[in-house]
Amino acid sequence: MAANLQWAIGRVRVTRVEERIASVPWGGLVPDGAQHVDACRPWIDPFMSDDGAELELSVHSFIVETPEHVVVVDTCIGDTDEFSLPGDSGFGQRLATALPGGLDAVDIVVCTHLHFDHVGWNTVEVDGVRVPRFPNARYLATATEIDAERDEEDAASYARSIEPLAVAGVLDAVAMDHRVDQWLSLEPAPGHTPGHVVVRITDGDDVAIITGDFIHTPLQFAHPEASSRPDFDRDQATETRRRYVAELANTNTLVLGTHFGPPTAGYIKDDGAVSFS
Ligand SMILES: [Zn+2]
Repeated sequence: MAANLQWAIGRVRVTRVEERIASVPWGGLVPDGAQHVDACRPWIDPFMSDDGAELELSVHSFIVETPEHVVVVDTCIGDTDEFSLPGDSGFGQRLATALPGGLDAVDIVVCTHLHFDHVGWNTVEVDGVRVPRFPNARYLATATEIDAERDEEDAASYARSIEPLAVAGVLDAVAMDHRVDQWLSLEPAPGHTPGHVVVRITDGDDVAIITGDFIHTPLQFAHPEASSRPDFDRDQATETRRRYVAELANTNTLVLGTHFGPPTAGYIKDDGAVSFS
C-alpha cells in the first residue's frame, strides 16, 4: 500500500489515502489508449504496468483541509465485493487514521459523481441498517447526478451509499457550480456522468483541481478523444477533456487525478505535444 501523499495549495492541505490499485488492460477501460502508449513515453510510464499493456487504476480518497473545513472528496469502493471492482477492507481505518480528528472531524463529503467506486465508504452498517459513516458531515452531490438514470450496478450502489444519507437528512443536492467555502468550489465537468463535477482549490495564486472521472489516465490529456468505457456521453466527455487541456496547459494549476496512481498529481504541458508530469 502506497504511503499517503500530501500537497499544499496555499493554506489548503490535500492528502491522498489509497484504497487499492488495479491493473486494467487498456481495452477494459480506455480501448483506444493502447495505440498511443509508445508516443506518450516516457512521461506515461509511472501510470502503467512495466510492459505498457495495462494502466494502473488507483482508487483513493482526497482529504482536503481548508482553513474552515475538513472535506473528503470521494470515498472509494467500500468493504464489499458486490461491484465490478472489490474494495479493500482496511481502507476505512486508514482513512480514519489519516484524518486529523478522525471521522468525527469531517464537515463535508463531496461526491464528484455517484459511481460505486466514489461513494462506497459514505455509509456503514450498524445493527443491519446503513447509516452515515461521518457522523458530523453534510454529503454533497449535484442535483443533476442524484436525478440521473441509473443502471443496475449504479442503482445497487445508490441504495447502499446514497439513499441512507437522504433518510438521515444529511444529503445536500447542490448546483454544479456550488461553492463550499472561499477555497473550495465545484465546477461542471459532464460527460462521464450527467452531473459530474471537478473540485477546484484556490488560495491566491495557488490553484489545483481534483479531476473526478472526466479522465482515467493522463494519456487522455494527450488524446482527449480516447474515451473511457463507462463514459455516459462520449462526445461530451471528450469535449470536457479538451476544455481542461486548453485551459490548464502551461499554467501553474496542479492536477490531482482521482484515478492516477502515484505520483497522482502533475501539470499539463503543451509544447506541440501534450504531456503530464
Ligand atoms: Zn471512478
